[in-house]
Amino acid sequence: LHRSQRVIPEMERTMKPHLVLIPWIGGISHIIPMTDIGCLLASHGAAVTILTTPANAPLVRSRVDRAALPHGGTGITVTAIPFPAADAGLPEGCERLDLLRSPADVPRFFTANKRFGEAVARYCRGDGGASSLPCRPTCIVAGMGHPWTLGLARELGVPCYIFHGFGAFALLCIEHLFKHRPHEAVASPDELFDIPVLPPFECRVSRRQLPPHFLPSTSMGGGPLKQEMREFDVAVDGVVVNTFEELEHGSTALLAAAAGKKVLAVGPVSLSHSPSLDAQTMSDDAWRCMAWLDTKAYKSVVYASFGSAGCMPAAQLVQLGMALVSCPWPVLWVVKGADSLPDDAKKWLRENTDADGVAGTKCLVVRGWAPQVPILAHPAVGGFLTHCGWGSTLEAVAAGMPMATWPLFAEQFVNERLIVDVLGVGVSVGVTKPTENMLTASKTYGSEAEVEAEVGMEQVTEALERLMDQGAEGEERRRKAQELKLKAKGALEKGGSSYVNLENLIHSLV
Ligand code: UDP
Repeated sequence: LHRSQRVIPEMERTMKPHLVLIPWIGGISHIIPMTDIGCLLASHGAAVTILTTPANAPLVRSRVDRAALPHGGTGITVTAIPFPAADAGLPEGCERLDLLRSPADVPRFFTANKRFGEAVARYCRGDGGASSLPCRPTCIVAGMGHPWTLGLARELGVPCYIFHGFGAFALLCIEHLFKHRPHEAVASPDELFDIPVLPPFECRVSRRQLPPHFLPSTSMGGGPLKQEMREFDVAVDGVVVNTFEELEHGSTALLAAAAGKKVLAVGPVSLSHSPSLDAQTMSDDAWRCMAWLDTKAYKSVVYASFGSAGCMPAAQLVQLGMALVSCPWPVLWVVKGADSLPDDAKKWLRENTDADGVAGTKCLVVRGWAPQVPILAHPAVGGFLTHCGWGSTLEAVAAGMPMATWPLFAEQFVNERLIVDVLGVGVSVGVTKPTENMLTASKTYGSEAEVEAEVGMEQVTEALERLMDQGAEGEERRRKAQELKLKAKGALEKGGSSYVNLENLIHSLV
């Protein structure tokens, strides 16, 4: 029988697990990988419902539509549950942390999120009348900022998994920091200390460079919120991680042992989509990037990007820019929040870079959204200057791309140690101080125009030279990156580690 004609036995139909995924709305970079996890689960035969807010639903839907799913993607449903932004004193449509007007809005956002959780619970219970889940869930996978899902899962009698968006090594470091608190023994915020989770490798960082859990005040809100999130972490039944077991030198198993729960490596989740773009739906920015790259020589381009919302003080941006425009390689540079830059920085960008993408442009600046995965897969790209966000890190690994590392905040300094010291696929730019996460570009540029640059142009140039080096050192990094690329691909192929973990998760729920 043709696949679609096969009569599905009643038992098999009713025993198909139904996973409800609720991505954290901290930023696009949480929503993208959780949507991809939903696509992977659906491609393994599970029924999947992704619950999100109305403003974030189009992003989720467009990603689901682009995934090549069996049976035309009928196994996956995307549902928008209203997010009561206005009731909590936020502007209508303010449905992600990175859209907040100022850090003072953080508590309001979490209040709205709690009420969103109540609406999600009504929907999952079926209290909402006609508006309720298509069938009973067998598992909930929740983003890290939704601690209310635990009570819901317990009430429904189903397991609750968490997705943080971090890698296993970073999660292992966080677990160690919570339990052993080595950061409390150092005298100054700049003193380096080791997080000894993966001997013989050292993970030397300073207190300033730690993830938000260990910083006084952050986008995760104040003490009680952080406490609630930690309790959520500790109480969940398992952790889903966008990684693959072969990548982080046994970190997934060590994390499982340290946290005392299942850790499922199911990535790289970006491989759930083909890196080629659909010409029908390509944005102008995407067209410009890809057409410009098509004119460049094999492995000649430096791609520089700092994540979905990463910004730096204007003085720092200009130092970086001077290195990018004067280096011998063509550069594709994604600048977030360019409209909010002070006038002199705007003028510098205008005079020294090009946003039109004509073939001869030396440094093409993208001010909107760059198609990162297709860019990393393009044969013209030879190196990636990255902020070490975990999504970008894994996308680079999956593309076999060597990196120059410029962490900004969150767990990115720990990721840098993994990329440079453990995996040997990166060179460090040498940033020591985090760039405070001001949540949005306008606030960063508006309030930090006077902040001096920590990293000078020469320092960036030196890192780029090492990144693009054609000698033995550069060659060795490229060789390692290619090796990881093959392992990444293998992990999601039939019988690979992530493939098996997805199958095991689904079977454990039947
Ligand atoms: N991204 C993209 N285009 C951009 C900026 C970001 O496609 O112009 C995607 C990138 O591919 C990755 C995510 O946004 O999937 C960024 O996630 P990451 O964890 O690296 O960083 P964050 O945004 O959380 O700092």
